[in-house]
Amino acid sequence: MEASFARSILVDAPMAVVAVDRTGAIRSSNTTADAFFGRSLTCEPALQIAQFIDDLELPCLTSPEEIAGFNARSRSAGDGVHLRAQGALGGQAFVDVRVAPFSVRDEDFLTMFINDVTPIVTAQTAVQDLQFQITYNWRLNSLGEIASMVAHELNQPLSAVINFLDAAKTLVARDSPDQTKITNYIERAQGQAERAADVIRRLRSLMSHDTGFQAPEVMAEVVAEIMPILVLSARETDAEILIEVSPEDVVRCDRVQIQQLVLNLVRNALDAPVTDRRRRVMISGLSTERGYRILVEDNGPGVAPEMTDRLFVPLASTKVGGMGLGLSICRTIVEAHGGEIRTEASSLGGAGFSCTLMDSEYV
Ligand code: ADP
Repeated sequence: MEASFARSILVDAPMAVVAVDRTGAIRSSNTTADAFFGRSLTCEPALQIAQFIDDLELPCLTSPEEIAGFNARSRSAGDGVHLRAQGALGGQAFVDVRVAPFSVRDEDFLTMFINDVTPIVTAQTAVQDLQFQITYNWRLNSLGEIASMVAHELNQPLSAVINFLDAAKTLVARDSPDQTKITNYIERAQGQAERAADVIRRLRSLMSHDTGFQAPEVMAEVVAEIMPILVLSARETDAEILIEVSPEDVVRCDRVQIQQLVLNLVRNALDAPVTDRRRRVMISGLSTERGYRILVEDNGPGVAPEMTDRLFVPLASTKVGGMGLGLSICRTIVEAHGGEIRTEASSLGGAGFSCTLMDSEYV
């Protein structure tokens, strides 16, 4: 009964089983092994198992410790030490091999239990590929977002440079050019070009959450510095810009980032469609118990209902050609100042955006 049992295990086991001698020659194989390797393994002269499985070091396996070590490394649960095998029709396969020694008439043999782990390895590779793809796409998206952000922030100073240089060029073409005015326009263009360079530097610091640029600033001066751009933008839409910022207000902040914040909010206010009345935008500042509050209000139609929940989400926009980045940049800036940005009812009847900047002692 025992011999039949052993024979049934050897012949019919669902796992490939082969017996090799100490030179690695195959001396016996079951039907699963023959099917797996795609041929009868027991022919004359004897085939070497190394022809079918790479990197097998069977001749070294003499002591029980070496055999135990080999078996431990070969488990599928191990750290991926699957062996490569030539499956049926020469197809690439992966196997885990465990061995057990036996002797017959003073000759030593190894029984090899060969487990086909190709489906597991294929699935693991697919998961790894997917993970790589996800990470890659995420990086690509972030890169795209950063690129859009930079483009968005540079658009304003660069447009101003073009406008000032255009104005200077028009003056130069006149019969008796006014040198003072021309110089003034060129200096303004230069100022805006420097501002563009500054924006890039500050964006980099914003992304690395570096607050090194924060210093006590006179808010009225911070706003006054961007007045030329605000006036230019307002002229395009014949808007009126009102400013209520006390010259007394001194706030610890990043000057350029706060200017960027105000510019973005004013630009949005000027974009809001108004047909039946003159556009009005008000920028006001108010010292609070724990810091400072900047409010930008307009007399437009207010925020569209479908936008209220995703105003500060990147890429959310109702404008044709809008990038939907302005408000998300505003939020990043305000948060870098330990504060909060939110919408509020505007005293002018349209939308209002309130930004709190915390004094560093409260942050
Ligand atoms: P974008 O200006 O490119 O659309 P923003 O992030 O600056 O991106 O603005 C997102 C959206 O918020 C705008 O498309 C608009 O629908 C709404 N929004 C922002 N500011 C105002 C405002 N002052 N009045 C009405 N809607 C506004």
